[in-house]
Amino acid sequence: MPDACRKIIHIDMDAFFAAVEQRDHPQYHNKPLIVGGKPDSRGVVATCSYEARKYGIHSAMPSSQAYRLCPQAIFVNPRFEAYKEASNIIRQVFSNYTDLFEPLSLDEAYLDVSNNSSHQGSATLIAKEIKQSILHKTCLVASAGVSYNKFLAKIASDMDKPNGLYLITPEQGSQFAEQLAVGKFHGIGKATEKKMHALGIKIGKDLKSQSLAFLLQSFGKAGQYYYNISRGIDHRPVNNHRISKSVGVETTFQTDINDRIEVIQHLHKLLDKALKKLHDKSMTAQTITVKIKYHDFVQITRSRTLSQSISSSTDLGPVVKDLLNNTEVGQRKIRLLGVSLSSLQKNPSQINNYQQLDLFE
Ligand SMILES: [Mg+2]
Repeated sequence: MPDACRKIIHIDMDAFFAAVEQRDHPQYHNKPLIVGGKPDSRGVVATCSYEARKYGIHSAMPSSQAYRLCPQAIFVNPRFEAYKEASNIIRQVFSNYTDLFEPLSLDEAYLDVSNNSSHQGSATLIAKEIKQSILHKTCLVASAGVSYNKFLAKIASDMDKPNGLYLITPEQGSQFAEQLAVGKFHGIGKATEKKMHALGIKIGKDLKSQSLAFLLQSFGKAGQYYYNISRGIDHRPVNNHRISKSVGVETTFQTDINDRIEVIQHLHKLLDKALKKLHDKSMTAQTITVKIKYHDFVQITRSRTLSQSISSSTDLGPVVKDLLNNTEVGQRKIRLLGVSLSSLQKNPSQINNYQQLDLFE
């Protein structure tokens, strides 16, 4: 299918965690609400209600700062089970419109509705119906962006929030990309943004005026992607078989820890959690990475790839100790610990189990 004929919808729930809390607790309605760490902790804001955003509060802001901006705000701990439940219902709604949807997180997904012929094939009307269906089934509000590729659909869903529905047509695509600050481009992170700024590239138009050769030379392979998106072109398919590259868990301590034994105990707990996540995905891993953030925010990682798959945290005892030998654990206070598992593969024994389950259903 020619790219300009594709119909892509990006659905993004509005203030998702906070909206679920407001739905389930009428006393939070119309109140500044913060889901995340408590103000006296060192946690951060996961999501906040639109009432809280008026005070300048946003995701990833330290909760203590959010408290200073709005002391009367209500702070609540996240209830991931509730969010997951809502997310499952939302994904069921997507499946009524297309088999081709790609969740990016609990509250966000791309849908390819090119082959959906309802509403005379109007992707905008399909998006409107999806929004209504989500509202009807979950009492939660979604914003939708509609366009002919993922890059523009994602920009579109952000244009009209909350409760937005925004279309970027093939005729408007390249003009949209031209006006956009490069930092807003999906796939351009902080470091690349900085590099582009140094080269005088501030908005899409500046990017578009560069030659492909220059972009390849300056940014490597990504240069081709930047060349394309500055023209509103994005060939990436909506991929419903997204396999994650790693699973990870981390924890920030209320008070910095210093004791090596305590560090090892925490790492084993984190490892058990990561292995559980892996098991839920029916995957196995071969690489373990330990992340350490010292009290002064200096962060290091240490990793090891094993010759066979990692099955239990006890097996990894010697590896964990070995990795720590290469750090300043015991001498320098630690603020955060994390473990991630990568080099993932589908676990063949579990695939068989699931196939058997299918047979009996
Ligand atoms: Mg969202």
